[in-house]
Amino acid sequence: MENSLFIYNTLTHRKELFKPLHAPHVGLYVCGPTVYGDGHLGHARPAITFDVLYRYLTHLGYKVRYVRNITDVGHLEHDADEGEDKIAKKARLEKLEPMEVVQHYTLRYHKAMERLNVLPPSIEPHASGHIIEQIAFVQKILDAGYAYVSEGSVYFDVEKYNRDHHYGKLSGRNIDELLETTRELDGQTEKRRSIDFALWKKAAPEHIMHWPSPWSEGFPGWHMECSAMGTKYLGEEFDIHGGGMDLMFPHHECEIAQSVAALGHETVHYWMHNNMITINGQKMGKSLGNFITLDEFFSGSHPLLTQAYAPMTIRFFILQAHYRSTVDFSNEALQASEKGLARLMEAYERLQKIVPAAQSTIDVSGLRDRCEEAMCDDLNTPIVISHLFDACKAINTIADGKATIAAADLEELKATFKLFVEDILGLQTADNSADNTAYKKAVDLLLEIRRQAKQNKDWATSDKIRNELTAIGFTIKDTKDGFEWSI
Ligand code: ZN
Repeated sequence: MENSLFIYNTLTHRKELFKPLHAPHVGLYVCGPTVYGDGHLGHARPAITFDVLYRYLTHLGYKVRYVRNITDVGHLEHDADEGEDKIAKKARLEKLEPMEVVQHYTLRYHKAMERLNVLPPSIEPHASGHIIEQIAFVQKILDAGYAYVSEGSVYFDVEKYNRDHHYGKLSGRNIDELLETTRELDGQTEKRRSIDFALWKKAAPEHIMHWPSPWSEGFPGWHMECSAMGTKYLGEEFDIHGGGMDLMFPHHECEIAQSVAALGHETVHYWMHNNMITINGQKMGKSLGNFITLDEFFSGSHPLLTQAYAPMTIRFFILQAHYRSTVDFSNEALQASEKGLARLMEAYERLQKIVPAAQSTIDVSGLRDRCEEAMCDDLNTPIVISHLFDACKAINTIADGKATIAAADLEELKATFKLFVEDILGLQTADNSADNTAYKKAVDLLLEIRRQAKQNKDWATSDKIRNELTAIGFTIKDTKDGFEWSI
């Protein structure tokens, strides 16, 4: 299968032509959320970035197996090998079973993703459901000699690995620097060196999430789940691994080391990382008071927000920046996105009502090619959006009666808008969401049956439909061509 999609590979620092290992199949793995709290903007950006990649690869004709995991074990307080498991802590504080915490936040995350029109992945594996695979992966690393057991825990031997391979190749860090800068940790006497990371941790007596293993009753290190689940579902080598830039080190660096140690080769062909989101120029953080959840954005219920923002405004805002650029959220910027999206969608609606003429007096050609070219240039969504805005000007000129468009040009313009606005960028108005379209069609169908009943002088059916729709709250108006309705 031919394509001209170039994606920026974080590992090689350059844009590379995308060549899948087993076309038409593509394996895509994205690090999903740790589910111990509500989804926030930091969750929305990778979800939307890789949703657009997933949609675009599908558009190119690939059969994508998209795996996005749920981290529900092993994500410790300090993002290192120490501290309490975040989910276990929440469960302890709220007197819940850890899986109740996981279930609660997973459902909320799904709900938020659905509102952002993020398509569900093909497989959404939970770390806690893949303990056996993780234990097997740890055993392979031990067998290869790149890990050691200490007091029931298993640690990766970074220094030994670095002698044979290159630890730090993704993040560009060097091991000497790491040795100097890695902070001293309590209880690190178990480790040979502070930069060694846990593959398996023996559970402390108060730790409520633990499983049996050859080394101890314990739990896997955080980095292990993605190595084990990625290779389980996508194979020992697969195409694309994505996530936020904040995961490059240590998480993805450790994944590479784990794969090479266990399998003798790397797993991932293209590493993709989206950049981070700041709020009013500041990093997001609970301690800074600028930690805004997605639900708070949708309802406007955070003190930093001057209004509620529709999920589509958030999505459009994220897509207006290239995924490798930083994005800064502010009320002004979001309001500008809200206006921009409204302008785009209004033109899209006007486009549907344009009546074709004998010939085009305005040039609307080449939009599809320009949009494809921008997408193929490392998913350059802001450029796609600017091309669509250019076309909006032409649409408005035609709709205002200042130019005409021939039928073939009109069909092409409609198809291109549908493809890029809806299918690839995933933008919806309340009007073009699938639910709404289906519901409108159903009401139209009922009223069509009523019209036919009237023609056949079947007053009982005609009145029943009218009366019952009116009782639900519909206003129905008969016109000379048929009918109109509203709520
Ligand atoms: Zn991961």
